[in-house]
Amino acid sequence: ALSEKLQATLSDVRGHGTLTEDDIKKAMREIRLALLEADVNFKVVKEFTTTVRERCMGADVMGQLNPGQQVVKIVNEELAALMGGASAGISFSPRPPTVILMAGLQGSGKTTATAKLARHLKEEHNSSVAVAACDVYRPAAVDQLVKVGGQVGATVYEQGTDANPVDIARWALDRAKQDGKDVLIVDTAGRLHVDATLMDELVQIRAAVKPHTILLVVDAMTGQDAVNVAEQFAEAVNFDGVVMSKLDGDARGGAALSVKAVTGKPILFASTGEKLDQFERFHPDRMSQRILGMGDVMSLIEKAEAQFDEDQAKDLERKLRRNEFTLEDFLGQLKQIRKMGPLTSLLGMIPGFAGQQLKGLKVDERELDRIEAIILSMTPEERRRPELIKGSRRLRIAKGSGTNVQAVNNLVKQFGQMRKVMKQLGKGKMPDMAQLMKQ
Ligand code: GDP
Ligand code: MG
Repeated sequence: ALSEKLQATLSDVRGHGTLTEDDIKKAMREIRLALLEADVNFKVVKEFTTTVRERCMGADVMGQLNPGQQVVKIVNEELAALMGGASAGISFSPRPPTVILMAGLQGSGKTTATAKLARHLKEEHNSSVAVAACDVYRPAAVDQLVKVGGQVGATVYEQGTDANPVDIARWALDRAKQDGKDVLIVDTAGRLHVDATLMDELVQIRAAVKPHTILLVVDAMTGQDAVNVAEQFAEAVNFDGVVMSKLDGDARGGAALSVKAVTGKPILFASTGEKLDQFERFHPDRMSQRILGMGDVMSLIEKAEAQFDEDQAKDLERKLRRNEFTLEDFLGQLKQIRKMGPLTSLLGMIPGFAGQQLKGLKVDERELDRIEAIILSMTPEERRRPELIKGSRRLRIAKGSGTNVQAVNNLVKQFGQMRKVMKQLGKGKMPDMAQLMKQ
């Protein structure tokens, strides 16, 4: 994967300081190759590497990130930016029904996406959805929409294959109004290539139903072609957003990467399989991680970066070394770790950890709540000198924290053991809190 290649390329760069021009050159070479291999438009690749190079030149290698990780982080951020921000989803018309027109080549996945979108809108927005069958050129097309539309509980408006698609669209809109539908999705015919007849029909349907949103469905498996198609549609009918279909296949991500840069239109949804629930809002960050091939490791890096203040870490290290670590510090640590989210989900982000191995390793969040409550019920003096905690103090703390004397005892005892372990560890490493607390 690209992330591994980048890290390998830059692994010989050690310590702190800035990336050298040579490092950056090597990294850019890997990126360029990887993107071209993923079938990204070459102009996009060129612009992209320029942007990344500039950012790398200015970047100080700092914090817990090594130079390889630093570059990966920059590349990840820029890839996500290239694909546009987070998908805003569908915007609804203030006067229902919101009309959504589906466009795209034959076989791109329009009819499938029509049903999937209907399902999505029902689930996420509780909308009542109707779909209109305006592909009259292939007999099976109407049946297909009746079938998948029915499966997702959408009302299907169809007139078989004899009527004119523009008339069907107009009629369907009237019915959707009468039936009080929130959304009408108009499925249209596609052709094997972009041609004047196809565009003409779309323009007529657009005039008839005045859609609130036009979605272009493009097949991610077709790579560069998908981008060319999108460019041609952008000129002819000016769509609002893209549904990227078949992202489940061996699509290399090139189409997803280029489409926004080339057409200026965002990818709103990703269709990721033949099942009708395999459809979601497009997440540029996830896509870029997929392209980089690194699980969710990026978000882990980011969370760690955001939450662990370097000065604080140094301070902690000093305290550990001098054995001045108190329950107060412990509380601070606990809070920092918890700010990063549930411990199990954090562990799940580490590639090797995801899946199986996690099942045995459960961190009890409630236990952490209790520990926090107990420490919070102590006076500052008690937090600094836990050896004071005896007799009535113990009872007071137990009451204050809604626990019992035994729990307070345990914590004080465990903390004493932890201090010992830390003393042995001497200097350096951050202790593994979860492990220590399980003792
Ligand atoms: P249309 O001609 O544009 O309406 O395309 P269809 O919706 O009929 O889809 C064409 C084919 O692609 C069908 O066999 C679908 O099952 C399949 N298909 C559509 N979307 C996806 C997807 O996201 N993943 C996969 N694997 N297949 C899809
Ligand atoms: Mg179709």
